[in-house]
Formats: sequence, C-alpha cells, structure tokens
Amino acid sequence: MEKPPPCLVPAAPAAVAAALDRSWPDARCGLYARDDWELLVAAILSARATDVQVNKVMAVLMEHVVSVAGLAALDHRDLARVLRRLPLYPQKARALVEAARALLVHHDGKVPRSREALERLPGVGRKVAAVVLGNGFGIPAVAADVHVTRIAFRLGWTAQELPRAAETAVEARFPAQEWVRRCHQLIRLGREHCRRQAPRCERCPLCADCPRQGV
Ligand code: SF4
Repeated sequence: MEKPPPCLVPAAPAAVAAALDRSWPDARCGLYARDDWELLVAAILSARATDVQVNKVMAVLMEHVVSVAGLAALDHRDLARVLRRLPLYPQKARALVEAARALLVHHDGKVPRSREALERLPGVGRKVAAVVLGNGFGIPAVAADVHVTRIAFRLGWTAQELPRAAETAVEARFPAQEWVRRCHQLIRLGREHCRRQAPRCERCPLCADCPRQGV
C-alpha cells in the first residue's frame, strides 16, 4: 500500500478524534483490576511492563493478597518473589508494601481521589495517578505513557517527546470527558501502527492527517 505524503501542519484534533473513534471505539484500560485499590496496584506494577505481564501477576497476587492491610503486612522481599517476572520487581515490591502502609496510616485504607494525595504514595508518579483517577474514579486525567508521548510528538502536537508536554497537548485538544478514552485509543494506535521502530504509516488511519514528525 502506498502512503500519501505527510500533512504539513500538526494533525487536526477533529480528524484525529474521528479516526480514533472509527478504529478503536471500544478502547479501554488493559489492566486487570476489580476496584480502585487493585487498579492502583496494577498501575504501580505497570512501569516498563506490558499489560499482559502485569495481568498475569495480578491474577496470582489477588488470589492471595486481596486487601490493603494484607499487602501492608507483607515483607517486601516475600512480595518480590511473586513479582519476579516483572521488570524492576524489587523496587515495585517495596513501593507496593510502603504504599499500602501509607494508605492505612493516612487514608483509612482507602485510595485517595486527588492527584496530590496519590502522588505522595510510594511508587506513584504522574502517569500512575492519572490511570487511577481516570479509570478508577472517572476523574478526567491524561496518562501520558510512552505511546501517548511518542504519538503526540509525531502528530506535531509537541516540539519534544516529553510526557508532560504530551499531557498538556492532549488536554488542550480534547474535552476533559474524552481524555481517558483518547489515551486508550492512542495507546492502541501506538501498539498497532505507530510503533517506535518502523511505524506502519501506510496502514495507519491517521496517515493523511499526520505530519509524521521525527519519522
Ligand atoms: S503511524 Fe505514521 S501516520 Fe500514524 S500516527 Fe504514527 S507517524 Fe503518524
């Protein structure tokens, strides 16, 4: 398939929205979680790991350790053995145990609903907080992962490939109630077409509207 020449200006949000809705109308969070607590755990585990890797570990973890108190009571070295198939598993084990203890001490064992409080928890940065806010509580937030960050740059929405810039770019181009869905759609786009190595522009639904910055 021959691809059309790249668009000369940043991709128009309306064209992007239409293409994303046509291609991935059902895009949603790929992490396995039954409630906001499990989602927080899965999101902390997701750094540098695929959703499939995280979901396999979550299935094992939640069979044995279902509660905040249960996790807080663990020794992080024991938890690390359960997480050992994940990248950075020793750090993640320590962060999870410490986050569970912080929830018990500061939040009555509940996951807080504010970005500020979430980001004070061990293992929680801006992206993890956004995943929990958006998917756990329905509070609009942009989770700028590697796909969203890369695509915002390639679409010409950011001058540099930086998560904070991508977050601001998505927020500026879509209504708040769409942010979570747009992020999931951009992640699907990144996995299926706009890969870091060898993006498949000729098959991409945004091909005609994308300036392909940096490609
Ligand atoms: S795959 Fe190509 S056309 Fe599609 S968003 Fe990425 S750079 Fe643009």
